[in-house]
Amino acid sequence: MAEDDYYEILGVSRNATQEEIKRAYRRLAKEYHPDRNPGDKEAEEKLKKINEAYSVLSDPEKRANYDRYGTADFQGIDMNGFSDLFSEIFRGFGFGDFGMGRRGPMRGRNLRLNIRLTFKEAFFGTEKTVAFKRKVPCKTCHGSGAAPGTSPRRCPTCGGRGQVVRTMGGFVTVSQTCPTCQGIGEIVETPCPKCRGTGLQDERVEIKIPIPPGVEDGMAQRVQGGGDAGPRGGPPGDLIVMFHVEPHEKFVRRGLHVYLEIDIPFNVAVLGGEVEVPTMWGMSEIKIPRGTRDGTLFRMRGKGVHTRDGRSGDQLVRVHIHVPQKLTRKQREYLEKFPEIFG
Ligand SMILES: [Zn+2]
Ligand SMILES: [Zn+2]
Repeated sequence: MAEDDYYEILGVSRNATQEEIKRAYRRLAKEYHPDRNPGDKEAEEKLKKINEAYSVLSDPEKRANYDRYGTADFQGIDMNGFSDLFSEIFRGFGFGDFGMGRRGPMRGRNLRLNIRLTFKEAFFGTEKTVAFKRKVPCKTCHGSGAAPGTSPRRCPTCGGRGQVVRTMGGFVTVSQTCPTCQGIGEIVETPCPKCRGTGLQDERVEIKIPIPPGVEDGMAQRVQGGGDAGPRGGPPGDLIVMFHVEPHEKFVRRGLHVYLEIDIPFNVAVLGGEVEVPTMWGMSEIKIPRGTRDGTLFRMRGKGVHTRDGRSGDQLVRVHIHVPQKLTRKQREYLEKFPEIFG
């Protein structure tokens, strides 16, 4: 995730308007244009990055993904009830509200969790148990960082505000994070021996994540407050669950539909007939009408993903006319008569 920051590349703020982004891009693209920097590899690299940043930030959907997940490439899950499901799972673990309303402004880290699913698991839905380590408030000092029996003292530098005001050049004042307490507003004089004053300890968590049918590769879900606790009472970070779906050897999925390519014998294509077709739901049949052309697409209704809210996708089958690579003598004799008969 520690990639180049697109906002930094374009030199715009995080809440820049589309107009500002466009203007910044035009100016930079001109500045680093190869015509102006002939043979300059560095300018070329820079321009590449500028283009990449612009392609993401100029697209509202990609920009939103980038802002949420730090990458433009994946879609959020749009299944009904999915978020609720997750917040429910985590409510039971006491995520989400410890440390709120306290001074320490430092937020805990976001955690990223990858869940690998087989094609079948993603198709029918499943439940996965995942184990990971996260920071929780230290149980010895209850997250304060101070040794039991002592308490943190108000920071003398900032008076507990966590911010100090600096005067620069006599008239400009800047508010900065207090260097003594790192913004927490308190200092620990006798650190807790267990957490050495950080107020955090590791905890191994094992949770069951129910996965509804229809998850696609690259989908992600953010669980607010499911990440590391913040140091010394800061709010927790988020947990980001990313789904990776393994490809299937035969089937390809797009949304709720499944795609399959099959070969049918030449005579079936010409004369019509029925062929057996595998589906995720088991073997099934399709009727091939007389005179079917190569590449014809057949729709098998309801053979795609069935979501929990009652929607269902189809299986789309593209047929290819099988051309035999080896022939027996008898077969060859028959086929040699073919032009004669058909003219
Ligand atoms: Zn402690
Ligand atoms: Zn301070």
